[in-house]
Amino acid sequence: MRGLMQDFPLTIDAIFRHAETHHGDTTIATAGPNGTTRSTYAEWAQRTRKLGGVLDTLGISSDGRVGTFGWNSQRHLELYFAAPCTGRVLHTLNIRLFPEQLTYIANHAEDEVVFVDRTTLPLLWPLIDTMTTVKHVVVMDDGGDNEIPDDPRVLDYETLLADAEPVEFSVTDEGSAASMCYTSGTTGNPKGVVYSHRSTVLHTMAVIAPNAFGLSVRDTAMPVVPMFHANAWGIAHAAPAAGSALVFPGSMMQPKALADLIVEEGVTFTAGVPTIWQGVLPELAGRPHKLRDIGCGGSAVPKALSEAYREQVGLPILQAWGMTETSPVASSGVLQPRFDDADDETKAARRARAGMPLFGVEARIVDSDTLEPQAWDDAATGELQVRGPWCAQDYYNPDAGVQLSTDDGWMKTGDVAAMDEFGSIRIADRTKDLIKSGGEWISSVDLENAIMSHPKVKEAAVVGIPHPKWDERPLACVVLNEGETATEEEILEHLKPLVAKWWLPDAVEFIDEVPKTSVGKFSKKDLRSKFAEYELP
Ligand code: ADP
Repeated sequence: MRGLMQDFPLTIDAIFRHAETHHGDTTIATAGPNGTTRSTYAEWAQRTRKLGGVLDTLGISSDGRVGTFGWNSQRHLELYFAAPCTGRVLHTLNIRLFPEQLTYIANHAEDEVVFVDRTTLPLLWPLIDTMTTVKHVVVMDDGGDNEIPDDPRVLDYETLLADAEPVEFSVTDEGSAASMCYTSGTTGNPKGVVYSHRSTVLHTMAVIAPNAFGLSVRDTAMPVVPMFHANAWGIAHAAPAAGSALVFPGSMMQPKALADLIVEEGVTFTAGVPTIWQGVLPELAGRPHKLRDIGCGGSAVPKALSEAYREQVGLPILQAWGMTETSPVASSGVLQPRFDDADDETKAARRARAGMPLFGVEARIVDSDTLEPQAWDDAATGELQVRGPWCAQDYYNPDAGVQLSTDDGWMKTGDVAAMDEFGSIRIADRTKDLIKSGGEWISSVDLENAIMSHPKVKEAAVVGIPHPKWDERPLACVVLNEGETATEEEILEHLKPLVAKWWLPDAVEFIDEVPKTSVGKFSKKDLRSKFAEYELP
């Protein structure tokens, strides 16, 4: 017997129509060097329909790749919908990647056009001749004062929009590609993840739900996590679907500017990587705000950071785990009611976990070679593998030998995790960041967390250094808060009650800053090469 419900496709134009029809008066604010501009979903919808017309006029192929190279802004949101809702594929380029990677990505995806903010144009323009399939560069004037090249390929966004006719949106194949994003790739070439309409709609529904970000018409959401990386964690789709007001920081990404936006725009939900919230903390502490949740992920959220927010801002951080390959949100650290009466320390430890898979994602921990399942006892670790309708099956035209899925259909994450009896995930490390000492593994993440709970420490990153006897031993690279001084002994003394004795780093190096990746995570790769010749005492 078959179900008798409508076979209605899960496509992004349905999100668009919902926001246009039911939330027309909800506001969208975008910050910029010349102040904040304000609009509504109704105006956005009209402009997005016209942008669809622009893509037609520019002659972009029916499933052509539409590149974007810009900050979080209303115009970026117009592109987020105009491209997929006309059957094209949105391709967000990460503005912080190295030039060679950008060239590789634009050529690999075969971008036909790139929409670029005026303030980011100086990063893109020198590469334009290396991007062989790009026919047009459309400049979105976000208030920069840099020169715009006099070149026939360069067009002005607002002029194109003013001349365009609005189009109807109708995508019928939910399995067709909607957008793509390349992972920064710590080894080999960047790898392209291709989201479908269906995966995006299902991920949107999951992100809106209360066990994740819990967005509704009562929210004002500010995605600090970039729209050029992992879909701004789904907020760019979830806010229009939930009817939440939006605040885009544009190029105003400095900690003070972000804190001001949170306070002045009445932001209730925001999300970004730990380094962002580390910077914002002193700017936000003690100020009145309407925040109900601060989403954070992309790398381990230090317990000390979450606790500092609880004490100084009035709410702890909500951790989520995911990857570009999982759309990206796959689990969240929403606290279960059985911890309601627990002490602060227990609650903080629970919040420091990646948490429970969202409905729609299944997770397992296995031996990565034999696929043998590991016990859910919160002690045994294994490779975290996931499956579900918004987890990637394959990369787009991958290099030879790159395989994302296991033979039995699970996605390999490259993360090492433990799970408790209910399947709440505790990320131990990335496979490549684990430190192998005497045949046993040391979690760099756990050590970093312990070091960062020292009041004088701002940031800490731990890497393995080759050791003749033990294979590898930990080196702690520590950044102190401004004006502080500390000794190696002080850091090690602090660690002694917190970690096993054999985990204690063999050395502590005080550095000015932990090198960061293009998306603001600790770059262990750069640290390892910085200390390649390091001799442990
Ligand atoms: P990349 O960092 O390679 O550009 P992603 O942004 O997709 O790619 O990062 C995904 C990775 O980030 C995960 O595999 C995991 O290692 C790390 N990560 C994400 N969220 C968390 C979290 N809450 N705790 C620990 N690690 C996390």
